[in-house]
Amino acid sequence: MSGHARFSPSSANRRLNCPPSLVLEEQFAEEESQYAAEGSAGHALAEHLIRKHLKQRSKRPVSDYYSDELLEAVDEYVSYVIGEIEEAKRVCNGPVFTVEQRVDASDYVDECFGTADMVIVTDKVAHIIDLKLGKGVPVFAEENPQLMIYGLGILGMAEMLYDVETVRLTIFQPRLNNSSTWNIAPDTLKAWGEEVLKPRGAMALMGAGDFNAGSWCRFCKARNQCRARAEEFLALAKMEFRQPALLSDDEIAEVLKIADDLAKWASDVYAFAQDQAIIHGKEWNGFKLVEGRSNRKYTSEDEAAEAATTAGYTDIYKRSLVTITEMERLMGKQEFTRILGRLVYKPQGKITLVPYSDKREAINKTTAAAEFQEVSL
Ligand code: SF4
Repeated sequence: MSGHARFSPSSANRRLNCPPSLVLEEQFAEEESQYAAEGSAGHALAEHLIRKHLKQRSKRPVSDYYSDELLEAVDEYVSYVIGEIEEAKRVCNGPVFTVEQRVDASDYVDECFGTADMVIVTDKVAHIIDLKLGKGVPVFAEENPQLMIYGLGILGMAEMLYDVETVRLTIFQPRLNNSSTWNIAPDTLKAWGEEVLKPRGAMALMGAGDFNAGSWCRFCKARNQCRARAEEFLALAKMEFRQPALLSDDEIAEVLKIADDLAKWASDVYAFAQDQAIIHGKEWNGFKLVEGRSNRKYTSEDEAAEAATTAGYTDIYKRSLVTITEMERLMGKQEFTRILGRLVYKPQGKITLVPYSDKREAINKTTAAAEFQEVSL
């Protein structure tokens, strides 16, 4: 088994929806992002803390990425995992725990393997837990192909020990306050592996099938130059609106469906072109590089304060309370709740129009109108 999986479970959603993306992406260099490096550092710390709890040998990793905020997110995940470990010990005499478990699903797709963050196997349940440290979009466990592939790989091992009744898949995304768990029966999971993963995976490895743009394009290396993606979005500009002069409700809904993705695509292409111009000196027809707007700054705050005071100005400082997160860190969670709990509230989020596919619960129409009016008054 080589170190690099051609069909990586973390790209499975993209491969299953747009099989030829695999071969197309192979012509691009690996993308090294700061977010990925920060994520790896967070995973390494989580692994260390869980191993310590399991009394396994482990050395605490060091990284410049360890901010208080990241450590807090990792702590939250580790607490959840420890809770699951203890529960597994309670319900089963011989549970198996593995951290950063290499998972092989090459029975279904050649060169398909990856690493599951945490696996807990009891006599009834094979539980795979995936830590996501991203702050961008929430990811959900239900029908998540990456976790389903891990599930297939783990099932192959777990069934050698126990008659597993349930494969449990959990995504824990602490920075978005998002966590979800989905249960699937082993037979249903295997049927998906045979009927969906196997044929789509084989197509992907060959570069066969049709290009198909969608939300899965977000991390595709070809996203900025992909013709299929561009055609999908540019089709909006060609939307044929019927008479009369004003758009109908259905036509506006059609525009809404694509507007968000269209804005993201346009900004991706813009960022790519700007990068090429700044870093590689690429010239784009009709475009030039200019300096952006900036705000004035003191060259030295100490010197500015001294000069203002010498000139007789005394009212030159602002005092402000530290943020809630900083205060909580200062006092510790319990003390914070005791002293300030009654003085903290969570304002209602801004009301937003989103597609049905969004997992948040819809709010009542009358409430929405009343709240909107209150904000507008
Ligand atoms: S950008 Fe989207 S449509 Fe194009 S290859 Fe990648 S996943 Fe497929």
